[in-house]
Amino acid sequence: MNSTKYKKLHAFINIPPESHFPIQNLPYGVFKPKSGGNARVGVAIGDMVLNLSTLQDAGLMKTTSLDIGNVFSQSSLNQFFSLGREAWAEVRSLIQNLLQADNPVLRDNDRLCSLALLPMRDVEMLLPVSIGDYTDFYSSKEHATNVGMMFRGKDNALQPNWVHLPVAYHGRSSSIVVSGTDIRRPKGQIKNADRSFPDYAASRLLDFELEMGFFVGTGNTIGDPIPIEKAVDHIFGMVLVNDWSARDIQRWEYVPLGPFLGKNFATSISPWVVTMEALEPFIGTGPKQDPEPLPYLKIDGNWTYDIHLEVYLQSERMEMPCRICRTNFKYIYWSINQQIAHHTINGCNLRPGDLLATGTVSGPRPESFGSMLELAWQGTKPIQLPNGEARTYIEDGDRITMTGWCQGDGYRVGFGELTGKILPALSRN
Ligand code: MN
Repeated sequence: MNSTKYKKLHAFINIPPESHFPIQNLPYGVFKPKSGGNARVGVAIGDMVLNLSTLQDAGLMKTTSLDIGNVFSQSSLNQFFSLGREAWAEVRSLIQNLLQADNPVLRDNDRLCSLALLPMRDVEMLLPVSIGDYTDFYSSKEHATNVGMMFRGKDNALQPNWVHLPVAYHGRSSSIVVSGTDIRRPKGQIKNADRSFPDYAASRLLDFELEMGFFVGTGNTIGDPIPIEKAVDHIFGMVLVNDWSARDIQRWEYVPLGPFLGKNFATSISPWVVTMEALEPFIGTGPKQDPEPLPYLKIDGNWTYDIHLEVYLQSERMEMPCRICRTNFKYIYWSINQQIAHHTINGCNLRPGDLLATGTVSGPRPESFGSMLELAWQGTKPIQLPNGEARTYIEDGDRITMTGWCQGDGYRVGFGELTGKILPALSRN
């Protein structure tokens, strides 16, 4: 980790060391002032949002390399994404420079500060990206093994293809929602073990999946794969993902084509997109890959990111959320570079704003499992909550909150919070 060289950066805003949004981070999001006004692109700094369109209007976002147009007056990050990596880097250093403690340009301009810097509590965060396609991988060996053991037994836990390619399915983008959105318990076909026919009922085995998502910044032309060594140039940044899952619907429907209605009723993402540049100091080595992957999937060092991840559950009767999972992104077996290379190896084109998710991030220890299915081991080991309640799956009124951050030397590069509450199933039909 080489986070030490970034330690000397200081913003003119006072930011405590445990804040997720110091000057080293600068994630992008789309917000709307609660007092009214249009959606705008902003950057999180401490507990403030920096309105980039205001800075641009004031003539402070002049780039030298190319004309960025009015990308910050948009209601999504897609136009900014499509400008490419050089533009992202230049904009980031412009913002970082403007926020530096020793730069008076914004610091000493009280009028502009009051227009451009808004307290987070005064804005509503929107879905940051107009998401075209959504792909969900299945890249944690621990998760795939745990689920395989429950569904097929210990000897057939991992399917033979799993160690040779990053398994994935095409998800649905229409039901991706931003943090804070309540989720309605889905209904569907459920086949109970003691019955020979399925019933139509509300899901009883509702689960979360702790995942990380990454946004395609610039895409590729159809027919033209992205080579693995170029993959990270195409990625803009990452968010937290909760891939809500109805296990009972999933189990009955998934043969032979995979997940469908058990997954596509809702997927939640965190509002702030943390850039690959901000994550760069936290690159590390992932799990050893054995057998060796095919050449198109091979990359030096099998890189990953050291991102600490946590999940909290709060029932309606609890006053405080209770942590039920602690894990790390570095346990993921197939890297995001490998996922991009594999996704495009057949010529499939990715487009700016596509979302790819890594799959449930489970670690080696029981408390590092990234779903209720695993934490409560298919209902056999209920999770004990501090107020005496217990959970095997999510109940109505439960709130699931995820958070994650990289720990630097005296600062954090964090993802903020991803939260959602489960509403009871509709009673009609
Ligand atoms: Mn998933």
